[in-house]
Amino acid sequence: MKHKILHSIYTSFENWSSESNIQPACCKGCSTCCSQNVTITALEGEDILRYVLSEDKVDEFATAILRGANISRPKYTTNDFAKACLDGRDIDPETQTNRETCPFLTDNICTIYPVRPFSCRLFISSVTCSSGNPAQVTDNHFEASTAVTQVIEHLGQKEYWGNMLDVLMAMLDIGEYRKIADKFNQTLIMQARMRTLTAKPLPGFLLSEEEGPKVSQLLEKIFDTEIEGKRIEDVLNGK
Ligand code: SF4
Ligand code: SF4
Repeated sequence: MKHKILHSIYTSFENWSSESNIQPACCKGCSTCCSQNVTITALEGEDILRYVLSEDKVDEFATAILRGANISRPKYTTNDFAKACLDGRDIDPETQTNRETCPFLTDNICTIYPVRPFSCRLFISSVTCSSGNPAQVTDNHFEASTAVTQVIEHLGQKEYWGNMLDVLMAMLDIGEYRKIADKFNQTLIMQARMRTLTAKPLPGFLLSEEEGPKVSQLLEKIFDTEIEGKRIEDVLNGK
């Protein structure tokens, strides 16, 4: 059920983005944005690990994970940050400075593309990025992608949240992934687990007066979608 909800959220966001007036510069093979700063929930990690097993990519995956170095590790989840802002507390917005290339990128192609997490789906830049020329994203798109990131964190609450490489390693103590875990030293798995945070429930959204109404249309679309006869909003509210 949770995976179906996650995939439905991806689809709603993709449809909403394609209806916007932005002419995206993003295309297959464009990969300047593929850094090691990607954050994921455990639910998204499950998609990736199951894909690695079903596609028999275990050796490739292990090599990629071990290539990750000096990765950025956020101190707060997106919902932690939102809660602090909504409570009026000062909090460091944590600019990620590590621009090392994502280890899942080979010849400018993402090797886990069908199961890439939301952090890798949210960018729509109106200009082609290059070194020193970052993505140009509208306020509307930025607020929408932050709100959807918060919903996805809420969906995965109480489970691992953090840098993609840490979360994937941390999950290897689950029996289903033993074939992958056998490629790693147990100490590395334990260290990765200690570096992850826990996904939090949604404290409210960080929407501006200007963009809020437009982003709310996307959120309503997400919440109103039915999965197995239940509205996503009801499932998210534990009904
Ligand atoms: S965000 Fe920038 S680097 Fe990434 S796909 Fe879009 S244009 Fe290319
Ligand atoms: S997982 Fe794929 S899309 Fe995401 S940053 Fe890595 S290579 Fe790029």
